[in-house]
Amino acid sequence: MVKTVGVIGAGTMGNGIAQVFAQSGFTVKLHDAAPAAVTRALGAIEKSLGKFVEKGKLAAADKDAALARLHATPSLDDFADVDFVVEAVVENLDIKRQIFTTLDAVTKPHVILGSNTSSISITALAACTKRPQQVVGMHFMNPVPLMTLVEVIRGQATSDATMTTTLELCKALGKTPLESADYPGFIANRILMPMINEAAFALMEGVGTREAIDGVMKLGMNHPMGPLTLADFIGLDVCLAILEVLHDGLGDPKYRPCPLLRRLVAAGHLGKKSGQGFYDYRT
Ligand code: NAD
Repeated sequence: MVKTVGVIGAGTMGNGIAQVFAQSGFTVKLHDAAPAAVTRALGAIEKSLGKFVEKGKLAAADKDAALARLHATPSLDDFADVDFVVEAVVENLDIKRQIFTTLDAVTKPHVILGSNTSSISITALAACTKRPQQVVGMHFMNPVPLMTLVEVIRGQATSDATMTTTLELCKALGKTPLESADYPGFIANRILMPMINEAAFALMEGVGTREAIDGVMKLGMNHPMGPLTLADFIGLDVCLAILEVLHDGLGDPKYRPCPLLRRLVAAGHLGKKSGQGFYDYRT
């Protein structure tokens, strides 16, 4: 029975993941290598819960109860008594490998270790542990408190019991889990990134302006956001890195990143977060 969840990484995704667990009645231990990130995360969670209260979607007392269930933990040794772990640190294979080795050493042997990675192989992370059958992908979407999907990824050795527990846990968070096999990009990015890449090619080749390309997909396909706007929102560096994973991992030239995307990233035009991407956000 999962009661206490350890979340490692308190950035954009980690704070959202910690929030939804706490909101759903779980005790949460939140750890980050940077103590300031945990402080920021707790502030962001309080603000987000406050918005739910303002909109009448959460009682003020439930907000306070959720906050009381959240505990910042300065050391990973505090994960010795957690029942489930979700890892949400930076998208870097070496760092994640190190963390899975440590988590395997500090947590109880039956504990499931989940990763929120967007593109790293769950099987490769599982191979750093002595419990590969208990390692699973738990790919939440941004912003976590609002998005209902969780892609649940089965690694080469992930057991049926681990899948069942993880799928049930997603449902307990009010999310809809959908299962994916462990191939590059899983389902979401395998389909989304080639669309974004093709939009970049269409822009580069002058098939349409950025407004026309985004407008066609919004008005014609009912997408809430055009692919170029979405790419700016995700971060062009993140899109490029995921396309490289698809290209390297699947070996098909159809995944080659668009030269315009590469050029924008090289120029430091990373999208909304840097002020410029396909669009200009500086004004
Ligand atoms: P982020 O940069 O906002 O946060 C990462 C956090 O990890 C930082 O606070 C950093 O201090 C911490 N960290 C780095 N090394 C650490 C270590 N050794 N131990 C503990 N903490 C460490 O990143 P993010 O956007 O929250 O992404 C986290 C994960 O979620 C990545 O694997 C990413 O691919 C995945 N993801 C991101 C999104 C998104 O839209 N941002 C969506 C789905 C999945």
